[in-house]
Amino acid sequence: MIDPFGRRISYLRVSVTDRCNFRCIYCMAEDMTFLPKAELLTLEEMERLCSAFIRQGVRKLRLTGGEPLVRRNLMTLIHGLGRHLRTGALDEITLTTNGALLAQHAKDLAAGGVRRINVSLDSLDPKRFAAIARWGRIEPALEGIAAAKAAGLAVKINMVALKGMNDDEFDGMIRWCGASGFDLTLIETMPLGEIDGSRESQYLALSQVRRDLARRWTLDETDYRTGGPARYVVVRETECRLGFITPLSHNFCEACNRVRLTCTGTLYMCLGQEDAADLRTPLRASADDGPIETAIRAAIARKPRGHDFIAERLERGPAVARHMSVTGG
Ligand code: SAM
Repeated sequence: MIDPFGRRISYLRVSVTDRCNFRCIYCMAEDMTFLPKAELLTLEEMERLCSAFIRQGVRKLRLTGGEPLVRRNLMTLIHGLGRHLRTGALDEITLTTNGALLAQHAKDLAAGGVRRINVSLDSLDPKRFAAIARWGRIEPALEGIAAAKAAGLAVKINMVALKGMNDDEFDGMIRWCGASGFDLTLIETMPLGEIDGSRESQYLALSQVRRDLARRWTLDETDYRTGGPARYVVVRETECRLGFITPLSHNFCEACNRVRLTCTGTLYMCLGQEDAADLRTPLRASADDGPIETAIRAAIARKPRGHDFIAERLERGPAVARHMSVTGG
């Protein structure tokens, strides 16, 4: 699938549920209204849609949310999609999780063909972690990370950079990831959905963080890519990779290879734009996959050039009304 700007679309992110067992301050309001369960696609329907994308050229799937591990029987979806790994039609299935339920699922994920996961960990300090995640606690997340490592999964830690909340922890997180053998990605907060506080006060430009880190660490350039938006360096002292996702201070939309499917079967061609395509109607209208594939191709044909998140406009409120948990981070 090639979009109007010549980009090959080979990466699908699927939000398997909009629900989450955490309420991270930059992601959601504490009092969220979630979709009625009846609106959700079944896992069988999700598998059918994912398979249609794979036939159209998607090589990489990331299951996300909400918190993907709160979706009941998620493993049946992973096992079902695993057949595409075995035929070679798909290169990988990965997962983004907050880790709280990972200890229960790590072995199954590995058995289902998952090789790498991203775990969000915004602080190593238990009190701060709880202040950021609100309903989340650090202990189960750390247990989950340890279980994932023991199950042989490669772990990448995602840390959202938050001014005044965790911006004195980057060195500690680099050291901890280095000692644990994990890559680390720092992420700028994006203006998605209403939250309780102000995003302007949370926002930290990673261009500035990188300059500051370079005073204490040797950051070697690398062209390593995972297919996602992060740009990496290798921290020479720890030999671990450090990624930067910088949608505001430096966007990389020109290389975007992704589209995002929600748990109701809506396809967003850009995280930061409102335009979307309804795939649930063609999915439910016929047992034939032809109409779904036609709808996917029509959607890719109108993928926009990029988002227009602008740091100076953060005080005006969200650039798009939906939260990251709907579109899938
Ligand atoms: N619950 C899972 C987790 O915590 O990783 C998966 C979903 S979460 C929406 C995916 C990623 O998006 C997490 O790393 C989270 O920190 C990040 N995220 C959520 N809202 C964000 C925002 N407004 N700006 C930047 N990153 C955000």
